[in-house]
Amino acid sequence: MSYARTSEDFRQRDGHGVRHQLRINERSAREHGCLIVAAYTDNGRSASKKYAARPGFDRLVAALSAGYTADGQAIQGVVCVAYDRLYRRPEDLARFFAALTSRPERVYVDPQGMRDPFSQAEMSRAVRSLEAAMTETRVRSRRVSDWHWARAVEGMPHSGPRPFGWQEDRLTLHPVEAALIRRAVADRVGGKAVRAIAREWCDLGVTGTRGGSPNAQTVTQIMTAPRVCGYRANKGELLLLPETGEPVLGLWEPVVTPEQWMAACATFSPGNLYMHRGSAAPRRTSRTTAPSRLASGFLRCGARLPNGGCCGGALCAQKGRSRRSPYAYACRSCRRCSISGPLADEALERLLFQDAPPHVRPSEITRRRWQEGMTNSEKRKTIASVVAHCVVRPGVKGKHTWDHSRVEPVWRDTGPVTPAEQGGEGRVPWPGGRCEAGWKHAEPTGS
Ligand SMILES: [Zn+2]
Repeated sequence: MSYARTSEDFRQRDGHGVRHQLRINERSAREHGCLIVAAYTDNGRSASKKYAARPGFDRLVAALSAGYTADGQAIQGVVCVAYDRLYRRPEDLARFFAALTSRPERVYVDPQGMRDPFSQAEMSRAVRSLEAAMTETRVRSRRVSDWHWARAVEGMPHSGPRPFGWQEDRLTLHPVEAALIRRAVADRVGGKAVRAIAREWCDLGVTGTRGGSPNAQTVTQIMTAPRVCGYRANKGELLLLPETGEPVLGLWEPVVTPEQWMAACATFSPGNLYMHRGSAAPRRTSRTTAPSRLASGFLRCGARLPNGGCCGGALCAQKGRSRRSPYAYACRSCRRCSISGPLADEALERLLFQDAPPHVRPSEITRRRWQEGMTNSEKRKTIASVVAHCVVRPGVKGKHTWDHSRVEPVWRDTGPVTPAEQGGEGRVPWPGGRCEAGWKHAEPTGS
């Protein structure tokens, strides 16, 4: 049987790649006296993503295990151009080899020759190709997320449909739509209900950039999006310059000032804000705001996503499950990472006073004041002067001992510590996108 696959980033998905591979397979088979009785293909399918379906591969494995193709032809082996077409993940290697070797005398053929899948040498070669494929996948996904990040930090606008308020170039304001947004922000800060604003837009015959008619939700999204004041969001969070911790400024023309935008955002409850939306965004069930915990806003989710990237969502304080951990910090965007609240707070404290490099480590006086009862807000300022944020690795299931090393610090800039950061006026992390940490939300005045 012949197998061919092209990955999803293959340029045209027109089947050229797959057809060429099948042709090479036919030649390889002929050269070794084999006859191809069935061909299985996955065109434009990734083999490195856990949840990406590969029906061709599944059918191949099923046929190998059964011993026969769907139309009853006996199978003696597999022809493929390279192992990395068949698998890029250990689970798939295991499935493939278990199925291939489920009958004696089976062979594996590639352009380099006919191989014995029962031999130690061939197994080693298969594993080496897996390692190479996995490294390549890691490097590639890192490169893609670096690329997005670098674009974003340079203030490039989001790709995707034209945002309401801007022209097709995504940089120049759309005079009519921008004026509507500006007016809506002012009206909202003045206490107007969003529904009333949406109704006005409808009466004016305004439609969204994809033709929809405005409603309270879309109008809220439009006016609370950070781009409105020139800030750049990335994955539901305000993007900050790593050097300064200040928001990244987009290259596009802003509609209102950051102050006006923040004033408008402050009129909404968290559930309505831009960072709590989108299909993946969790719904806020409770409107009560949890008290600010020590590490709120400093912790980022370190869970791996199915696409190989890192989640990076903010961990938010929530109720814990045990007496030892009466509260916890959990990622609400991927739900793959949570950490005991007291553990995270303790780990942060250790980082601050034991592990911090000298140029950011708090003074002895600060340490003593911390222990003798600083307020939470003072402590948070101290933390902000030491770490930009911390990445929390997901815990190991069933492991109950506290592992402080799960909290990995990203120290503040290595430049000289500014007086503002030393003194009591230490910078608190930017509020946008951080759960309950920074925002003081007024209840909606009706929306
Ligand atoms: Zn996450």
